[in-house]
Amino acid sequence: MTMPAQSKRDYYDVLAVSRTATADEIKSAYRKAAMKWHPDRNPSQKETAEGKFREATEAYSVLSDAKKRGAYDRFGHAGVSAVGGGDAGFNHTIFEEFQDIFGDFFGFEEIFGRAAGSGRARTPRGADLRYDMRLTFEEAAMGLTTKIRIPRQDLCHVCKGTGAKPGTGSATCETCKGKGQLHYQQGFFAITRTCPACQGAGQTIREKCTECRGRGRVEQTRSIDVRIPPGVDSQTRMRVAGEGEPGANGAPPGDLYIVLEVKDHPFFERRGADLYCTIPISFSQAALGAEISVPGLFGDERLAIPEGTQTGSIFRLKGKGLPDPHGGGKGDLYVNVRALTPAKLTREQRRLLQQLGETLQVENRPVERNSTFFEKMKDIFG
Ligand SMILES: [Zn+2]
Ligand SMILES: [Zn+2]
Repeated sequence: MTMPAQSKRDYYDVLAVSRTATADEIKSAYRKAAMKWHPDRNPSQKETAEGKFREATEAYSVLSDAKKRGAYDRFGHAGVSAVGGGDAGFNHTIFEEFQDIFGDFFGFEEIFGRAAGSGRARTPRGADLRYDMRLTFEEAAMGLTTKIRIPRQDLCHVCKGTGAKPGTGSATCETCKGKGQLHYQQGFFAITRTCPACQGAGQTIREKCTECRGRGRVEQTRSIDVRIPPGVDSQTRMRVAGEGEPGANGAPPGDLYIVLEVKDHPFFERRGADLYCTIPISFSQAALGAEISVPGLFGDERLAIPEGTQTGSIFRLKGKGLPDPHGGGKGDLYVNVRALTPAKLTREQRRLLQQLGETLQVENRPVERNSTFFEKMKDIFG
């Protein structure tokens, strides 16, 4: 991939060196840029980092080569990007190499040659898988054990992932002479890449396995037992180690991530491990006090309403909330009681209320602000 000419930055600017910089200054500037922008070191902005890394690498591959640098100084980008000028250059090789390196998630060490030549290339783990699971509010509260079915690539059971027909054996890879990796020298560092012919195995197969057609893998649906602990919430991510896709050449498998989504409940609202609900009580229960039954998530709970309870009062039932999925204590259940004003009265009830009204004195004046709602909220959440 080549960038359009007008968007290409000056190579000296890219490496932040002067036009008279020495070879050592250029080398050290590139090393600094490469350290800074290596995609593995910038996982949160991988694409930007990769772009910067490539840009610096391209600049370095020109400025570190006296002939190319001379051409660049005289003709600019046109001087070094001429197609097919007998110069294999970076456009065709180094870029493809880096592509492979990034694709393989090679570490920094491999690129900078410290580990080059020391045996097998590091093979990446298998891919991680994600499974989205919807739970009812109750299931999330109680926890559950269930089976999930995951379609994934598994090692072929006939050839055990080798891709070779059983009994046919394999031959040493011609491309890498059995080493599994290829080395290139580019500027001051060595590049080691996994051999594309054998994918790093060092061996190629003589006859393909008929089950997997030589791929070593087959699509399979795995059934996995999953235990969801009680008290989980939406966005909880659970890792099931080793249940992702298998790695190449015996590398460890990836992990399976189960991402939970919990449906809302018609009565209960949750905040962390605490539950909130609103319960209507009658006007006389509020005035005289009563013991009422509150339908909790784990069965009915008794709640004593004291005499003279105001509408909107909030009572706490300690430990009647949700369990902590990490094994800590339980949350609380908060009950907001609402005294209902009777809306439809019989003649007899109306007469009794009128009689009561004559004996009750209430001053119809605004109440002070700090004795209301906000005060109560402060008591509870403060
Ligand atoms: Zn097979
Ligand atoms: Zn090979």
